[in-house]
Amino acid sequence: AKNTERGTVQFYQENLPVQMKGILEIESGLRRAVEHNEFVLHYQPQINTKSGSIYGLEALIRWNSPKRGLIPPNVFIPVAEETGLIIPIGEWVIKEVAQMIQKLKKLGIILPISINLSIRQFYQRNLVERIKTILSTHDVDPKMIILEITESMATDAATALVILKDLKTLGVKIAIDDFGTGYSSLNYLKQFPIDYLKIDQSFISDILDDQDDRDITDSIILLGHRLNLDLVAEGVETKAHVELLKIMHCDILQGYYFSKPLPEDALIHFLNTYQP
Ligand code: C2E
Ligand code: CA
Ligand code: CA
Ligand code: CA
Repeated sequence: AKNTERGTVQFYQENLPVQMKGILEIESGLRRAVEHNEFVLHYQPQINTKSGSIYGLEALIRWNSPKRGLIPPNVFIPVAEETGLIIPIGEWVIKEVAQMIQKLKKLGIILPISINLSIRQFYQRNLVERIKTILSTHDVDPKMIILEITESMATDAATALVILKDLKTLGVKIAIDDFGTGYSSLNYLKQFPIDYLKIDQSFISDILDDQDDRDITDSIILLGHRLNLDLVAEGVETKAHVELLKIMHCDILQGYYFSKPLPEDALIHFLNTYQP
């Protein structure tokens, strides 16, 4: 048995060192990043399909590592989830967004901002209280905040429903992100007090050439409207996307066609010069 154990250990050491070292490095780097405040938010504009005006913004985090430069969230959010660091990081995001809403308001720009929640954050105790405190500290109207959750977060549907109802009572809005990629019961969709469905970009990217993706997108929009929700298309990259999504009556468009996620200064320039 001893030999087997030793063999097993060696097996892992030989086969996983690069990956493990990568994760451990990210983890220790992330702890420092939380202490030294190395994160930044970029903001991606969302466009009102009908009017062409700006509807709101989505906040997207980046890690500005002194060693490695700007690191995208897909690299470190999973590690932050795993280690629990997502709690302080997520709290920082909410504070930063609250301050941004105030900053924009002083410039005469009033726009709601969407915040991505991860599953651990969603189920953390006191989530609703913490958000409430941050918003009132920064004098932000809760209806200016849209919280994005994914279908996979409804693992514990009964608890999720309680949390969502509390969030609605607080007055924030709820969006289901990456809709169509997870496994969600239409029954939940009807019960959950949500405001927006965001159609995943994997469907949008091919709606021009792929009849299935076009049909799926069309059906999601019909379903969403039937449930009184506003539909957001992600990954809108071309004029042809815009035209087709207009015909499908998608309410809100987001993607590189309009703008990439922008750092604060570039965002303010964009907002001040944008013409529908
Ligand atoms: P997401 O919420 O689905 O965000 C959309 C992603 O698509 C963003 O990547 C955005 O930059 C990218 N994108 C926007 N328009 C286009 C387009 O036209 N074409 C293409 N190909 N991509 C587009 P990003 O910023 O790298 O974020 C990746 C993911 O990281 C997000 O996916 C979200 O799940 C997560 N994330 C970002 N910020 C946060 C955060 O503050 N907290 C948490 N928990 N997760 C976050
Ligand atoms: Ca999102
Ligand atoms: Ca998404
Ligand atoms: Ca996504």
